[in-house]
Order: sequence, then structure tokens, then C-alpha cells
Amino acid sequence: MSTYVIANPTTGKIEQEFDELSDGAVAGVLGRSDGAYASWRATTAEERAQSLIRAADAYDARQDELGKLISTEMGKPIKEAVGEVQLAGAIYRWYGEHGPELLKTEVLDPQGSEESLVQTEPIGSLVGVMPWNYPYYQVARFVAPNLMVGNTIILKHARICPGSAEAMSEILHAAGVPEDAYINVFASNDQVADMIADPRVRGISLTGSERAGASVATTAARNLKKSVLELGGSDAFIVLDDGDIEHTATIAARARLSNTGQACNSPKRMIVPNGKFDEFVSTVTQAFESARLGDPTDPSTQVGPLSSITARDGVVQQVKRAVEQGATLHTGGDALEGEGAFMRPAVLTGVTKEMDAYAEEIFGPVAVVYGVDSADEAVELANDVGFGLSGSVWGSDIDRAQQIADQLEVGMAYVNEHGTTLPGLPFGGVKRSGFGRELGRWGMGEFVNVRLRRTS
Ligand code: NAP
Repeated sequence: MSTYVIANPTTGKIEQEFDELSDGAVAGVLGRSDGAYASWRATTAEERAQSLIRAADAYDARQDELGKLISTEMGKPIKEAVGEVQLAGAIYRWYGEHGPELLKTEVLDPQGSEESLVQTEPIGSLVGVMPWNYPYYQVARFVAPNLMVGNTIILKHARICPGSAEAMSEILHAAGVPEDAYINVFASNDQVADMIADPRVRGISLTGSERAGASVATTAARNLKKSVLELGGSDAFIVLDDGDIEHTATIAARARLSNTGQACNSPKRMIVPNGKFDEFVSTVTQAFESARLGDPTDPSTQVGPLSSITARDGVVQQVKRAVEQGATLHTGGDALEGEGAFMRPAVLTGVTKEMDAYAEEIFGPVAVVYGVDSADEAVELANDVGFGLSGSVWGSDIDRAQQIADQLEVGMAYVNEHGTTLPGLPFGGVKRSGFGRELGRWGMGEFVNVRLRRTS
């Protein structure tokens, strides 16, 4: 059976197929991962850090080739693809450089001869389930801190990007991570559930949709395992009345089209003062219409295909439904004729609470713009969805913008920028966007045993 397939979304051509794990092989994977744990955790933090730094060097050295691979697998425009490879490399390097320090034993409240120590210990074998939209970056966020800690990893990537999944495995092994300390599996959802239920697996991290997160977290909870969930978002981009509208609208449009709109923290809802609404909508519309659509391996392309025809058709349907329910479409929203999973970027206004587009995540190049009469109304609207990943506030009065940002129910609030992700900063959401954090020291604290050792 072959269900892990590279199907080029630009051409529709099947480039390569990979065999799925047989049921009999699951037990072997679990045994290998558990077996490797004893020796991997026994290495020194410095040794593990060196492996991560060698992996970072490989990402840097192979950035063009690795970038092209994901442009072919999931359609990311090549410049962004290479940028993602560099970011993944930077994450491995950050944990390689800071990991040993973060793992140091902490002495608490020293008094007389009594001693209280807090040791940061690994917990064992972990399962990671990852999405296709940032194939290298998402994996790096989970893998780098956990290999640094001394956990071992079984990685199940999205079934549309098996090529990058194999490349990452090869990089880690060549960098010195033992074959069984990082095992890439082409597994089914049922096999993943079996792995989570097995006593040898100690934790699970999933980045993906609410549906997948709920399923995996249910299995984890039933088996008393910890899970970290990085799920969807419908981020607000709030423009205040003292902002430069044309400039902010141009930034909003560019951010929304990044990765062809397929980012969890893309500014999916733009909220602007009613007095500036027309200017904002017209600038975003122009930017969307002039963005260059095409072959993602061409460096001049700004918007590629969506990840698959199915994904494209789903987004086109969401736009169509919004219009049927009464929203106004200013541009785009239709599938391009011919081969490939392309659609024209869309701008919607007039979306009301009764419409599906108000509450659901639109995972493609679609901007929904709302007009409001006050900053309070903007905050209320921003918080009036089930998601709570990130949000941004734009204005020239920084104190005021920060005060408004502090009212957003999100894991990441930005002022005059949107969606910055850096290796040392925490990443994650609240509400239906999930729980737990990745990156920085917070990402290293999720799957550890914070062990007290007290001596008197
Ligand atoms: P998805 O369909 O949920 O897939 C994500 C991963 O979960 C894939 O490996 C998928 O495997 C697997 N999966 C799906 N159902 C599963 C189940 N019942 N049990 C076990 N594994 C399961 O999501 P997607 O369409 O790839 O990604 C888009 C979603 O991810 C969006 O909602 C986006 O906002 C979210 N996302 C969140 C973040 C964040 O950091 N918060 C980052 C990126 C993306 P298959 O490929 O085999 O189906």
C-alpha cells in the first residue's frame, strides 16, 4: 500500500510514492525507540548539542536543494521555502547553543546542610504528528528541544510531504543522532493511535487541525499521556486610526499571501476603522491582484498553488459559501483553469456573525476585512472567535497599541508586526488553538521530568 505520495501541486504529477508502515512494524518501531532512549539520555548535553549544531550546518549547506523539495511537495514559493530551511537550521543551532545551559541543575533556596535541587530529566519516547504547511520548521520546533533534553522521537509527518520527512531523518542521523533515537514513520492514523496507547510512549505533540488535535489528545488522555497541541488560528490584524493605512494594508496583504495563505498565524481577519475602510480594502485588493501567481520554483513567484487540488477546492467553496450567505467579494476566489491547485487570492467584506466565514479558519489566500467604529469594538471582534493563536495591533501611538494588544485573548500578541517566529521566543495559543508551547526555554519544558532531589 502506498499512501504517502509526492503529488506536485503545480503540475498534478505524482513524483514519488512511499510505502506505509505495516501493522507488524509498529511494535518494532516502539521497541527501537524505547531501546535507544537509555543510551541517548546517557550521552552528555554537550554531545547532544553538537549533533544539533551539525544538523543546523547541514540545513544551511543544503538550503537550496531542501527548499526546492518542499516547493515540489507542497507548492511553497522557493524564496519562502529557502527561508524556512534557514529558520529550521537556526532552531537546531539555538538549542545546540543554549540547550546545555537550560538543562543545568538548579539549586533552590540553599540553607545550612540541607540541599534542594531541581534536575531537568528526559521522560522517554515521544510521538510527533506534523503538518505539511511548514514541513521543516514545524518538525524542528518539536524535535530540536526534545533531542536536546534526551528524549527519543517517532515522527509521523503529513502524507503529502514524505520527501522532506526522509531528508530530515537523513540529516539528523548524519549529524550523529542514532538511527533509533529519531525514527521517521509513514504511519496511518490508527497506527499513531496504537503508538500513543503503548506504555513505552510517554508524550505526544501534534501540529495541525482541531479535528486531528482532538483525536490525538483524546487517545493521549485515555492513556494518561501528556499532549501538546498547536492547532488552527484566525488571527486578527487590528489597524488603529493613527496608522498609515496604505503602508499597513500593504503589509497585511503580503503577510496574508505568505505561504499562499496556508499559515496557522496568518492575519486572516483584518479589522480597520470605518473611516479608513475603503482605502484599506482597495489597497489590499490591488496588492492581491498584482501578486504574481505561478510556478513556486520560479524565484519571481509570490503566490504558488495550494497544497493540493482538494485543499484548493475547499477554500474556493468557503469563499463561494460566504458570498451565497451575503458577503461581498472584491476580487478573486475562483480556481484557475488548467493543471495545478491554483486559485486567485480573494478579498471579502460584509462578513457577519451569522455566516460560516465569521468563525471558521480559511486556510488559503483569502482576506476578510471588517470595519469598526472604535478600538474597543476591534478588540471585541478580534476575541469573538474560538481560536486564540496570535494577533497584531498597528498604530503610531505605541503605548496605546500595546494596551490594546494586552486585551487580545491569544498566545502571541504583536505590535506593529505580525507573526514573527524566532528560535528563542515561545510559540503557541490558547482556546481552540491548542495548549502547550514550542520554542525557547518553554518548548524545552514540555516533555521533561522536573525532578526534585532533596538531601538533609
Ligand atoms: P491535519 O489534517 O490536521 O494534519 C496534520 C497532521 O495530523 C498530519 O500529519 C495528519 O496526517 C495528521 N492527522 C490528521 N488526522 C489525524 C488523526 N485522527 N490522528 C492522528 N493524526 C492525524 O492538518 P493540516 O491540514 O495538515 O494542517 C492545517 C492545520 O494545521 C490548520 O488548521 C493550521 O492552522 C494548523 N497549524 C497550526 C500550527 C500551529 O503552530 N498552531 C502550525 C501549522 C498549522 P495525514 O497527513 O496522514 O492526514
